[in-house]
Amino acid sequence: GKGLAVFTSGGDSQGMNAAVRSVVRMGIYLGCKVYFIREGYQGMVDGGDNIEEANWSSVSSIIHKGGTIIGSARCMEFIKREGRLKAAYNLVTRGITNLVVIGGDGSLTGANLFREEWSSLLDELLANNKITKDQREKYKYLHIAGMVGSIDNDFCGTDMTIGTDSALHRIIEAIDAIVSTAYSHQRTFIMEVMGRHCGFLAVYTALCTDATYSFICEDPAPNNWDKKLCAKIAEERKSGQRLNIIIVAEGAIDREGKPITAELVKNVVVENLQQDTRITVLGHVQRGGSPSAFDRILGCRMGAEAVMALMEATPDTEPCVVSLDGNQAVRLPLMECVRRTKAVAQAMADKNWDLAVQLRGRS
Ligand code: ADP
Repeated sequence: GKGLAVFTSGGDSQGMNAAVRSVVRMGIYLGCKVYFIREGYQGMVDGGDNIEEANWSSVSSIIHKGGTIIGSARCMEFIKREGRLKAAYNLVTRGITNLVVIGGDGSLTGANLFREEWSSLLDELLANNKITKDQREKYKYLHIAGMVGSIDNDFCGTDMTIGTDSALHRIIEAIDAIVSTAYSHQRTFIMEVMGRHCGFLAVYTALCTDATYSFICEDPAPNNWDKKLCAKIAEERKSGQRLNIIIVAEGAIDREGKPITAELVKNVVVENLQQDTRITVLGHVQRGGSPSAFDRILGCRMGAEAVMALMEATPDTEPCVVSLDGNQAVRLPLMECVRRTKAVAQAMADKNWDLAVQLRGRS
């Protein structure tokens, strides 16, 4: 059967295991020889035990687990051609020419580059007598299918990235807990949530928790945000509300692009309203814990679609990223989505927030 490998790379997220499980089982079902690559690109470069054949039961009892059982890592070596040459050797000598990459835009960019170079990497390996002419011929095409694991929902082309829904559940559960104690003591809580380049978690959280205010990066706070915020809190308290929740995304900024931190917001509230105000930074709690039903199903569907895309690939099929469009699993050109995602980041760096939101589209 065809050699197929799956790996997780970049930041982890809940639901990655469901995706890994789905890739392994769909691959085996369709007659592939399926491998895990542990620790992302690092395992691909290092080879050895990092690349291990998977069987049906090696993915039993993982669907409910957060994180990724095959490990994830950042890998400097893979950014250089020398590292990618080692990786190509490790794949060819195992007969692996199909890769499923689960990661963020960095990981997908790396995979695309690897495929573009594949032919020349194999030529170099052959010239150095690392592989045989037969291997050079037999494994001449590399096929790539990607999917995005990220709690931030920060990737263009998919309605939801794997992990976002679980992170939302985790955040909301934490805020519900805080709300009960805040109520008792009539406190204001500033909650810092993840989302350096994308306010999705902050906005959805604000809606789900009846928050007073939220700060994000795509819609910078107006110049007099401090006055508006305090007026709104004061008004809500006057109407009988006993607490306030304010959501601050990690990447929140004002119109000049200056960061709005939880500490800054707290100072504004304390100085103007003299309220008992506390900060809770949720941090990595958001990325941990068991995946929601939605993320488990999403991982299953994306994994199966990725394997089918690889099995249907012809020599000139471009790398794809499996995405959710409405309720449909679809294959989109990988680099087009990566380019759009990067264009969003650039638009925000240029303070062109309308363009950023427009480019991001539905997600
Ligand atoms: P994410 O995939 O979550 O965006 P990173 O940007 O850190 O996370 O990328 C993860 C890994 O992907 C990097 O450590 C590196 O090994 C690989 N990678 C990222 N960008 C490139 C690139 N331009 N060329 C080659 N490899 C890359």
